Amino acid sequence: MNIDSSPIAAIATAPGRGGIGVVRASGKNLQPLIASLFGGTALQPRHATYIPFKQADGSVIDQGIAIWFKGPHSYTGEDVLELQGHGGPIVLQMLLARVLEAGADSGLRLAEPGEFTRRAYLNDKLDLAQAEAVADLIDASTEAAAKSASQSLAGAFSKTVNTLVGNVTNLRMLVEATLDFPEEEIDFLEKSDARGQLKGIVYALEQVFKQAAQGALLREGLNVVLVGQPNVGKSSLLNALAGNDVAIVTPIAGTTRDKVTETIQIEGIPLNIIDTAGIRAPEEAADVVERIGIERTWNEVGKADVILHLLDADHGPSRSDEGIMEAFPQGVPVLRIWNKIDLSGHKAAVDQMEDATHIYLSAHEHIGIDLLRQELLRIAGWQQTGESLYLARERHLIALKNAGAHLVRAGEHAAQNDQSLDLFAEELRLAQVQLSSITGAFSSDDLLGVIFSRFCIGK
Ligand code: GDP
Ligand code: ZN
Repeated sequence: MNIDSSPIAAIATAPGRGGIGVVRASGKNLQPLIASLFGGTALQPRHATYIPFKQADGSVIDQGIAIWFKGPHSYTGEDVLELQGHGGPIVLQMLLARVLEAGADSGLRLAEPGEFTRRAYLNDKLDLAQAEAVADLIDASTEAAAKSASQSLAGAFSKTVNTLVGNVTNLRMLVEATLDFPEEEIDFLEKSDARGQLKGIVYALEQVFKQAAQGALLREGLNVVLVGQPNVGKSSLLNALAGNDVAIVTPIAGTTRDKVTETIQIEGIPLNIIDTAGIRAPEEAADVVERIGIERTWNEVGKADVILHLLDADHGPSRSDEGIMEAFPQGVPVLRIWNKIDLSGHKAAVDQMEDATHIYLSAHEHIGIDLLRQELLRIAGWQQTGESLYLARERHLIALKNAGAHLVRAGEHAAQNDQSLDLFAEELRLAQVQLSSITGAFSSDDLLGVIFSRFCIGK
């Protein structure tokens, strides 16, 4: 990604047709562009001007609203020009081409993905966590996720993190001041209650981590894989969980050849449920297509957060089922779902057994489905805290975790009460660096590249 400050432009609205569409430009000084586009008509900052958008030869592309946000009072902190026209793909392409042409002399070029938001970050309009929240709000797949993203965008997460950084910094300053007067070292820990302060920070950090981990769940969801013999009822269970018909349900074994993914919500948490081709040993597969299906299934199983292993409650497990169980990856929770209890006569129930949790239900008759939902929430680690959650990313969770580890080590040095005050100070510094990376105070160019390149163009 370029970090040059040449003016940029892009279509800011989603592709496709819409009532309006917006072409946006940003640059240190857009006066030459505005003059080239609108000739003598001056735009007043932050005023909507109804005006024709014209080609260089004077022919009209569209009529619309032009708004000039004079820097630094804009999204990017630079001059921003928004042209709001009609939202057709061709008319917007023409308008964008015209803007690029009109700005060619001042070096105007097409914006790269996320470049508007990157500039907002570089010009201190947003911190890094807020910039990420812009993308998360746009991508939010549930209402709860959108709500958390919008809170992060408003700075709630950043504020909490900054408070932690501030507390660590205060403690660091105390310690480092003491380091200059070695004869007072021993006294220092007692006098300033450094251990008590540290304890408080660690506790606060744990709370933030919990809220962030729950928020990450809202963002990422849970990958659930359905496996089991052909005809055991996988597609029926997916339908029962999803509440609509997404997979093909037929009485012929081996119908589900391609994987079917359906994202459903349970209490606002997205569950990405993957229905797979029936698992069998490859030598049992009738043809090549089925063999490929089986290979794919094992691929999906490897990526799962939880495996639902469906079994026939009426017929009991088959020899292949025992083979399947042995092949499951270690460490991934497995729920054994005994389906078709309407035929077997079992009661709907959850049974915590030593080997796994067993659930008795009927996909077809919608009996016991709620037990499964609750069990999935439990595995996801979902707690209804009522507190606001931070739609955290993996990056944030790792930084919080690392910061916590440094604070714990700092605590160990403090406990020794010997000459290790400088090590105590160093661990505090490392914790601070980790925390600051969340809002971007110490972020590398590589990290910025990774974050902003995942945006779409125009954002
Ligand atoms: P899959 O091959 O594992 O995806 O199985 P399907 O969902 O396609 O179901 C295979 C057959 O079993 C269909 O005829 C379903 O109607 C039937 N079936 C699924 N679940 C139940 C259930 O709980 N009770 C009964 N009686 N039949 C079911
Ligand atoms: Zn199926």
